[in-house]
Amino acid sequence: MLTTVGLIGDPVAHSVSPAMHNAAFAAHTLPDRYALWPTSAALLLERVASLREPQMRGANVTIPHKTAVMSLLDLLEPDAQAIGAVNTIVREADGRLRGSNTDAPGFARALATADYRVSSGRAVVLGAGGAARAVVYALVQGGIRSLVISNRTVERANGLLLDLCAGTDPIPCTAALALNDPALSDHIAHADLLVNATSIGLDRKMSPVSSENIHAHLLVVDLIYHMTPLLSAAAARSARTQDGLEMLVHQGAIAFEAWTGLAAPVDVMRQAARQALEKHR
Ligand code: NAP
Repeated sequence: MLTTVGLIGDPVAHSVSPAMHNAAFAAHTLPDRYALWPTSAALLLERVASLREPQMRGANVTIPHKTAVMSLLDLLEPDAQAIGAVNTIVREADGRLRGSNTDAPGFARALATADYRVSSGRAVVLGAGGAARAVVYALVQGGIRSLVISNRTVERANGLLLDLCAGTDPIPCTAALALNDPALSDHIAHADLLVNATSIGLDRKMSPVSSENIHAHLLVVDLIYHMTPLLSAAAARSARTQDGLEMLVHQGAIAFEAWTGLAAPVDVMRQAARQALEKHR
């Protein structure tokens, strides 16, 4: 077994990525191993430099280094530049390090598995952190017809709207509002997609919106990996639901394809990720 990829972050112990990628390597009978690389800010430069060694394929990057790592790379994909975060590094044949963001295309692929047509969609995105930025980027790139962003800190929602929607033609982002703004109910009533990209629900107790706002014509996607109160309420109101596992698997699949040039065994990766998540519970 040869360590050729790994996860750079702090902390990383909770990650299911080793299970998911090691299962994918095994399915392709590759000798590669995906490792956990807990890395403090002080050691980030050294860790990234180690990816230039010839046997390395690259890395994933997580909190808190997704933005700081950008200045240490040789090339940046447009998605990473627009979102302002790198979650995947690929070592090119000539040793250069290329940064990309696979959360956005991973989210787009996850939506496709639910047969959601972005180009005719009307979406409400809750949150304005890193995950929300990837979601908004994917929806805008996919040609979403209308998009509302709602966040506890409304200034962040406004910033996201200006960063990722301004300049698009036609401009799909119609509003940025606070999570407690009464107008949010109306926007959800007219939407066909509701995405929770906040961390509300991680505790399995709270929901970012009241269940009365959920209707049967919605696809409700919660980026959290388990059944949240929001998803339970959506299921109870006959809305379609998807939890965060699908996005996690597809962002991993896109990274695997970039590192190896091989088709990702998505079903194998999904099963390995699900088993690892169950173990962590
Ligand atoms: P982040 O950058 O820290 O953003 C956190 C977001 O949650 C912000 O919008 C924040 O609002 C909001 N928030 C946090 N606590 C809140 C509270 N008590 N009340 C209201 N809003 C609150 O985190 P992130 O990286 O975007 O991650 C967000 C979620 O997505 C996490 O649950 C994470 O596990 C999940 N995620 C899933 C995937 C996947 O592949 N499925 C990928 C990435 C992330 P403020 O701006 O007001 O602070």
